[in-house]
Amino acid sequence: MTSSLKDLLGDAAATAPALSAPGRAALDYAGLRALVDATLAGLNGLGIGRNDRVAIVLDNGPEMAACFVACACGVASAPLNPAYRAEEFEFYLSDLNAKALIVAQGSTTPAIAVAQKLGVRVIELVPKLDGGAGSFALAAAPEPSTRPAALGGIAEPDDISMVLHTSGTTSRPKIVPLSQRNLVASALHIRNTLRFTAADRGLNIMPLFHIHGLIAGVLAPLSAGSSVFCTPGFNALKFFGWMDEAAPTWYTAVPTMHQAIVGRAGKNREVIARHPLRFLRSSSSSMPPQVIRELEEVFGAPLVEAYGMTEATHQMASNPLPPAIRKPGTVGIAAGPEIAIMAPGGALLARGETGEIVIRGPNVTAGYESNPGANAEAYSNGWFRTGDQGVMDAEGYLSITGRLKEIINRGGEKISPREIDEILMDHPAVAQVVAFGMPHPKLGEEVAACVVLREGQQVSERDLQTFVAGRVADYKVPAKILFMDEIPKGATGKLQRIGLAQKLGLG
Ligand code: ATP
Ligand code: MG
Repeated sequence: MTSSLKDLLGDAAATAPALSAPGRAALDYAGLRALVDATLAGLNGLGIGRNDRVAIVLDNGPEMAACFVACACGVASAPLNPAYRAEEFEFYLSDLNAKALIVAQGSTTPAIAVAQKLGVRVIELVPKLDGGAGSFALAAAPEPSTRPAALGGIAEPDDISMVLHTSGTTSRPKIVPLSQRNLVASALHIRNTLRFTAADRGLNIMPLFHIHGLIAGVLAPLSAGSSVFCTPGFNALKFFGWMDEAAPTWYTAVPTMHQAIVGRAGKNREVIARHPLRFLRSSSSSMPPQVIRELEEVFGAPLVEAYGMTEATHQMASNPLPPAIRKPGTVGIAAGPEIAIMAPGGALLARGETGEIVIRGPNVTAGYESNPGANAEAYSNGWFRTGDQGVMDAEGYLSITGRLKEIINRGGEKISPREIDEILMDHPAVAQVVAFGMPHPKLGEEVAACVVLREGQQVSERDLQTFVAGRVADYKVPAKILFMDEIPKGATGKLQRIGLAQKLGLG
């Protein structure tokens, strides 16, 4: 098995299309490989080399996909959500110890000012609109200083290829370093599960700053020499137009996107009939079985639900393609790493018994960066603990039955309740706060918070929402804020976020 990401792109025929986009000619594999080499040579010329962190803040699209792939092949790529506000960029750029930040030429992202303040080099990406989709050049003059000889060269399997942060559920966000080996293993697992071939065409609507889109949407299909149509981001109104242009054989999405797509399918039956899909894929939060049935009927194709997480370079389990059996309501069978169910004491449980889902394998991170405390908690006898609770049936199909971590899963976007607590605590009228997940019919969960005000203070729900909105990306703003005389505690007097919504009659 190859252990370098660049080798993964090497098998595809030079003239096969790799990336395409609405209204753009395709970039072929020869073009993509040349872009990888030119980008890494450019970065090396600036004194940026293997394992150096390069933050990328680009809108969704073929340049983002190409830039991620190029960086991941030879430096440590760190894609960040372009919707972040200055405060969030400041945390991530400094926590990552970023050597450089790549932004699009003319971008107005607040990340630029933050990078300048922190002394992080800003590199502009100039799209080549007359080239194939995703073609770009980096606009930066090489450093006059001498560049260390070991900077570039062939990436080693243990070199860091990508760094992402967890959503910071129980503490501040943790850095998840993922190696070349991790990315290669995960891409190949997904390629095997979905049986990608060079004839496949993916329609990528997933954001390219999360592991789901980066690995399942882009890297895994490229590892099979197939092509990826890169959209500017999800839009249910444009989905069927893209489908007509891309003639995809598959797509992957989070449940809320699938629900929006199925809602518009009735008006677009002809498009669907013109482009029969081989399969649909769902991951990142749980998919209601009735929506699976509806999608399968509308598209006349199987939907496979998968289970992923950042620390596993995305995929851990997946329902298999036919003729193997799909079990709606489960996340399928182990599809990459080994999976076991662990009792609180660390013993492995038998099938049919409920416990914590644990994993081990070549796609699992070697550990959070500079965080021995978190690693001591996360690993048990060589198994990585997912913080999800589950049970396996006699045939090895895994059901997720609950969560042991406090993370809020808003339609696949993970939000740390602690982060919301900290922001609300900064408001002068707020004395105490606890943020938590509240059930939502479409999103699965939505952010809510209980707030105790300081004596004599008055502030409205709207005021606090506006306060939060000024500091973090919109999806994190609490949809509901309850004012209370005291913060509700569990039976033991401990703060209990899990189950709080139910206790307060919110779900
Ligand atoms: P992304 O951040 O790109 O959406 P992701 O969801 O695979 O990717 P994380 O953000 O790390 O990765 O979130 C992992 C958590 O998401 C899991 O621990 C689990 O709680 C939840 N999750 C992922 N897939 C499913 C699923 N199919 N059903 C239920 N929960 C899921
Ligand atoms: Mg996530």
